[in-house]
Amino acid sequence: MTARHILLLPGDGIGPEVVAETAKIIGWFSEHGPVKFTTSGALIGGAAYDATGTPFPDETLAAARKADAILLGAVGGPKWENLPYASRPERGLLGLRKELGLFANLRPAICFDALADASTLKREVVAGLDIMIVRELTGGIYFGSPRGVETLPDGTRRGVNTEVYTSPEVHRIARVAFDLAGKRGGKVCSVDKANVLECTEMWREEVIKVHQAEYPRVVLSHMYVDNAAMQLVRNPKQFDVMVTTNMFGDILSDIASMLTGSLGMLPSASLGKPDTPGVYEPVHGSAPDIAGKSLANPIATILSFAMMLRYSFDLKAEAGKLEAAVKQVLAQGLRTADIMQPGMKKVSTGEMGDAVIKALGA
Ligand code: NAD
Repeated sequence: MTARHILLLPGDGIGPEVVAETAKIIGWFSEHGPVKFTTSGALIGGAAYDATGTPFPDETLAAARKADAILLGAVGGPKWENLPYASRPERGLLGLRKELGLFANLRPAICFDALADASTLKREVVAGLDIMIVRELTGGIYFGSPRGVETLPDGTRRGVNTEVYTSPEVHRIARVAFDLAGKRGGKVCSVDKANVLECTEMWREEVIKVHQAEYPRVVLSHMYVDNAAMQLVRNPKQFDVMVTTNMFGDILSDIASMLTGSLGMLPSASLGKPDTPGVYEPVHGSAPDIAGKSLANPIATILSFAMMLRYSFDLKAEAGKLEAAVKQVLAQGLRTADIMQPGMKKVSTGEMGDAVIKALGA
C-alpha cells in the first residue's frame, strides 16, 4: 500500500482544536482508504515563538520539506501582537509560503444548501454556489520594491509600495486557473485593473497568450476588480474560476467567504511546483475569543484535508466522500455555535468531528 506523510502544524488559538479533529479523519482514511497516512507535528506561529524564540523554526522548515503535504491550523493572537514584526506569528506562515514557493492560493467558496439561510445574502443568490478563487500568492504589491516610508526634507512623509509581476509569474498562475476550470465548469474570469494599472494590463495580455496557446477550450473572460467585487455580491453564480493578483485576490476571497455564511466553513490550499508539498489550511484565523472552549467549527479544516486528498494525492473519490459526509452532517441539523440556527442541534468541536467520522461509515 502507498504511504504518504502529512505534517501537522496546529499553531495557535483554535488551531490545535480544529487540527485534532481533522487528524481523526486522516486516521479514518488511513484505515479505510487506498493510501496509508502517517503524521507528525511541528511548531509554527506564537506557539513556536514561545518555545524557540522564532515563529518559524528551522526544524519546522526541514519537516515541511520532507512532508508530502502540510495541514496548518491558524497562527496569531493578542499575546504576540506587540512583538517586533520579524517575530510575529504571521511571519511563520509567510515564511512557510515563501520557502516552499507556494505561488497559487486556491479558495473555493461553496454554499452548502443546509446553510444557505446563514448567509447575509438572499438564499436564491447563494444557494448552490460553487466558485473557486485562484489568488497569486508570492508576487505583486505585497512583495514588490521599492517599498517603505520615508520622511522628506520638508517633513512630509511618503509611503511607497510597488505592484510588480513578470510574464512567467502570470503564466504559471494562469495555468493553475485554466487547469482547474478544465476539471470544473470550464470558465475562467481573470480579474485586473487594466484600465488604470499598466502592470495588470500586462497581466491581462499574458493570460490571453496562455489561453490562446494552451487552453482554447476554456472560456476566458476579463473583469475589472471593482466590477468583480460588485458582481460577487450581485450574482456570484455567474463565476466558475476567478484568477487574480495577490492583493485583489486577498480582498475578493474575503468577500466570497461571506457568501457562504461562516468563516468556519472555508478551506484553502496553497500550491507550488508539483514536487513541493502543498499547504492546506482553513481561511479563518486563530479565533482567540473562542479558543479552548470547544466552540470552534472544525469543518473548514476538515474540508482543507478534502482539498489535500484531491490536489496533493489525486484521491478524487475520497475527497468527494469526505465532502459528502460533511454535507450529510449539516443536513442532519448538527451545528457548531457559529452556524447555529433555530431548530438545529448545537454540537461542540469534538462532536462535529465525530459526526463526520460517523457519516463516513465503517
Ligand atoms: P479570526 O478568523 O480568527 O476570527 C474572526 C471571527 O470568526 C471571530 O469571532 C471568531 O470567533 C470567528 N471564527 C473564526 N474561525 C472560526 C471557527 N472555525 N469556528 C467558529 N468561529 C470562528 O480573525 P481575527 O479575529 O481577525 O484574528 C484573530 C487572530 O488570527 C489574529 O492574530 C490574526 O492575525 C490571526 N489570523 C490568522 C490567520 C491564519 O493563520 N491564516 C488568518 C487570519 C487571521
